[in-house]
Amino acid sequence: MAGTAVLGRLTWLVAEVVDVVTETTRAKTLAFDVPGWLRHRAGQHVDVRLTAEDGYQAQRSYSIGSARDCTRVELTVERLDDGEVSPYLTDELRRGDQIELRGPVGGYFVWEPSQGGPLLLVGGGSGVVPLMAMSARATLPRATPRRGSYCRRATGTTSSTATSSSGSAVTASRSSTR
Ligand SMILES: Cc1cc2nc3c(=O)[nH]c(=O)nc-3n(C[C@H](O)[C@H](O)[C@H](O)COP(=O)(O)OP(=O)(O)OC[C@H]3O[C@@H](n4cnc5c(N)ncnc54)[C@H](O)[C@@H]3O)c2cc1C
Repeated sequence: MAGTAVLGRLTWLVAEVVDVVTETTRAKTLAFDVPGWLRHRAGQHVDVRLTAEDGYQAQRSYSIGSARDCTRVELTVERLDDGEVSPYLTDELRRGDQIELRGPVGGYFVWEPSQGGPLLLVGGGSGVVPLMAMSARATLPRATPRRGSYCRRATGTTSSTATSSSGSAVTASRSSTR
């Protein structure tokens, strides 16, 4: 598929943390400087690999939140309390720390401004991250219809936000049993 990076050809790159931004109580955006990084498309992701001192390795995928032309790779990670990798990324990583990542990966969920509109972005939870990259590239003519719908789960509630091309936003919450 066009635009799909072939994993076998990807090499692990050293990524240095250059910024950490707290987004919510559970999510942080990590910005990395990655020498040798290839350009990516909005919607692609990276594989992150952590290696412990005893050689144990853990690998997870994270969507790229930064716009295509951004030289930095930005990942927004939601902390899962009982997770193996996300608590380390959100709680332990500091500026100057280094991890390994490879990418960009994936060509099946990408969007380019050249594809035109109308644009409908729908996501939930950490699925908002690739939509952030797409929004950052949304240099469509002003008259082009665009809509966004986002849903996230908080303790005991589910909240959803819809935005329109006019920039207005509507947020609704409801009780949830999960
Ligand atoms: C293409 C792609 C893009 C992604 N993008 C993002 C993103 O932008 N942001 C983001 O935050 N996440 C993203 N993810 C999810 C991310 O890859 C991780 O899955 C997430 O961070 C959890 O990893 P973890 O190591 O913290 O949790 P894990 O250790 O993998 O655990 C996840 C859950 O499974 C449970 N579990 C683990 N092992 C078992 C077991 N043996 N039996 C039963 N339950 C078990 C854990 O208790 C936990 O609740 C993406 C995933 C994919 C595939």
